[in-house]
Amino acid sequence: MPDNNAHRPNAKGAGKDLYKLFDASIAIGVEGRPELERDLSAAVGSGELFLLYQPIFELPSRKLAGAEALIRWRHPQRDVVSPDDFIPLAEESGLIVPIGRWVLDEACRQAAAWAADGLELGVSVNVSAYQLGRRDFVEDVRRALEESAIRPSLLTLEITETTLARNVLAACKQLEALRTLGVRVAIDDFGTGDASLSSLQRLPVHILKIDMSLVAALNSGAWSRELLRASELLEAILGVGRALSLAVIAEGIEEESQLASLEAMACEMGQGFLMAKPGPPNVIKSLLGPRAARRAAGSPTV
Ligand code: C2E
Ligand code: MG
Ligand code: MG
Repeated sequence: MPDNNAHRPNAKGAGKDLYKLFDASIAIGVEGRPELERDLSAAVGSGELFLLYQPIFELPSRKLAGAEALIRWRHPQRDVVSPDDFIPLAEESGLIVPIGRWVLDEACRQAAAWAADGLELGVSVNVSAYQLGRRDFVEDVRRALEESAIRPSLLTLEITETTLARNVLAACKQLEALRTLGVRVAIDDFGTGDASLSSLQRLPVHILKIDMSLVAALNSGAWSRELLRASELLEAILGVGRALSLAVIAEGIEEESQLASLEAMACEMGQGFLMAKPGPPNVIKSLLGPRAARRAAGSPTV
């Protein structure tokens, strides 16, 4: 199952986190791809790949609810490369398999390290269509859970709406197998694909992540028709979430006004640059004092 979303242009904004990102697609061009693929192959297992974590907060309390693991590649000769620039290449070359395994293992290891420090925090891992389509994917997840010894419900797998909608039957089968492991599943970039309501009802998922383009549409100026439409669409998605008993997370919150609108609509969780950019694991810990860490340990996690 190829993933259209993985091939989308790098539209998620520049200056995304604490690292300067290198736009490989512009700088390298088609003729540089074999070189980049060779470098990526060498990067697996060499320590050049690393994960940043973007906090997810409960709203309106802004209590830490979990963290999304986001991959980066520290290329030896270049700046840090963003996932939009090498995940498509990894999928086309099959390197996504070892890379995806590494991400799973590393994120679960980090969740175990946080738990050992008294912070039992959920971690979300992005899974591409190519990974989900593989027979041994469930085994990879099982092994990552076993080796880290984390509670399975601490791990959330994020799969895009486009991936799930493309082959609902196959996705259902795979998600059922994952459910028996006790992990949670989130539909990522929700609102940009074409999942039907009936497929949503069939899929064993727990969380809807509203795509940031829908949140950004809340900025369309005071009282405009576009603003009204954006609000109505978000209300409808939140209604679907409630009807299907799914938790809903709004992504890409950049403005106080967006946060205020989402809170007024009773959106229960959010993430975005307004609250925190993706950062190294110690940044997550520093968001919590010892008292907050105890509270987070007792609260629901994603
Ligand atoms: P995603 O899973 O939807 O992740 C959210 C992306 O939005 C991240 O970009 C994050 O840095 C960015 N973001 C978060 N808050 C804001 C905001 O307020 N404003 C803006 N403009 N952007 C925000 P990132 O880290 O570059 O990741 C891009 C995509 O790459 C991810 O989208 C995901 O689809 C993919 N990806 C990241 N890590 C992995 C991975 O380990 N495996 C796979 N297969 N895909 C990954
Ligand atoms: Mg995601
Ligand atoms: Mg997303």
